[in-house]
Amino acid sequence: MLTVEEARQRMLETIGVLPTETRGILDCLGTILAEDLYASENIPPFNNSAMDGFAVIAADVSNASKARPVELSVVEMIQAGYAPATRIQQGSAARIMTGAMMPEGADAVVMKEVTELEGDKVSIFEDVEKDENVRFTGESVKHGDLVMPKGKLIRPQEIAMLASLNRSEIQVYKRPKVAVVSTGDELTPLGEPLTAGKIRDSNRYGICAQVAEAGCDPIDMGIARDNEAETEEKFREALAGADALITSGGVSVGEFDVVKAVLSRLGEINFWRVAMKPGKPQAYGIADGKPIFGLPGNPVSSLVVFELFVRPALLKMAGHSELLRPTFKAVLEENISNRDGRVSFMRSIITSRDGKYYAKTTGPQGSGILHSLVLANGFIVVPAGATIAAGEEVEAQFMG
Ligand code: AMP
Ligand code: MG
Repeated sequence: MLTVEEARQRMLETIGVLPTETRGILDCLGTILAEDLYASENIPPFNNSAMDGFAVIAADVSNASKARPVELSVVEMIQAGYAPATRIQQGSAARIMTGAMMPEGADAVVMKEVTELEGDKVSIFEDVEKDENVRFTGESVKHGDLVMPKGKLIRPQEIAMLASLNRSEIQVYKRPKVAVVSTGDELTPLGEPLTAGKIRDSNRYGICAQVAEAGCDPIDMGIARDNEAETEEKFREALAGADALITSGGVSVGEFDVVKAVLSRLGEINFWRVAMKPGKPQAYGIADGKPIFGLPGNPVSSLVVFELFVRPALLKMAGHSELLRPTFKAVLEENISNRDGRVSFMRSIITSRDGKYYAKTTGPQGSGILHSLVLANGFIVVPAGATIAAGEEVEAQFMG
């Protein structure tokens, strides 16, 4: 049996990054930048006021106080979006709005709250330093600066920055298209009545959602029956239209597990027994240069194996450099023992108090008990054979 780390490393070594494409600014959230992005403009593009107030010459108001205000003549009002008309001379000021262009001659802004306007005279009750409340040309980004390096994840703030730089399109890595197929004669699609021996197909929906949450595009390929010819046709069709294929079920040792035979014919597939609970049987390989992930059928195993293996692989295909979620120590709130010879990823509720994380499991942890995941916001990682008492620390991670 392989450890989780060994299996993941072997798998990730075989995964390549997808080619690049051009995407519009509103269509690139969650993708990875595939170009070094340099600023073609200064941000801000001109010196402007950070406050509503009065643009002044700082030296004019250096002695201003509540008791001895300094009076200045107001020569104009500058609104955001318009150019000032007048140069500020000694003894004069301009009313100015936040974001409005600084007038020539002025070198500071006094905020409105410490002034009093009467007619075309303003009394100033506080001094300001030169440059105070002024935002300077290029102080956020200078023309020619490297603003975002290749490999950066595009989040809402990156999209705002692209707009600031007048970039309506960028080069990003393609979002992986991922086909998802469930296998098993017992599976019933939503909306159809359950007859004897049948269950709902939950994995396909859960996996499609995990694919989407990882920033990829799921392709729902439905259910393949436990019949070799049908399963092979379905898998080949799915693979042809996608960058990767995820199947669920049929990779264990059951009589009707046709999935293994079919996967073996598609490409170089390894059937792995990974020393983990849940999720021991898994299949992984490459066909037509595309990764195939054969997830176990049990609903909890399927979602956990996705989280630990498929998610990092999809992130790598999409160009990410951070593939794993961070782990941290949490204080156990119950006694735990894992008598198994495999590391156990126990579904848990993780909370934080007084600067520490705490974790307790979500109750029964059988690999078919989907509710153990619904209640959870993360995992604790309990090593093989470990007994950990309440109050001791355990490794933990959040999940999506
Ligand atoms: P298998 O690995 O195909 O033998 O399936 C293991 C267990 O998972 C069985 O109890 C299956 O009924 C169940 N199972 C398989 N596929 C799904 C699915 N798509 N949704 C829910 N349960 C499933
Ligand atoms: Mg099956």
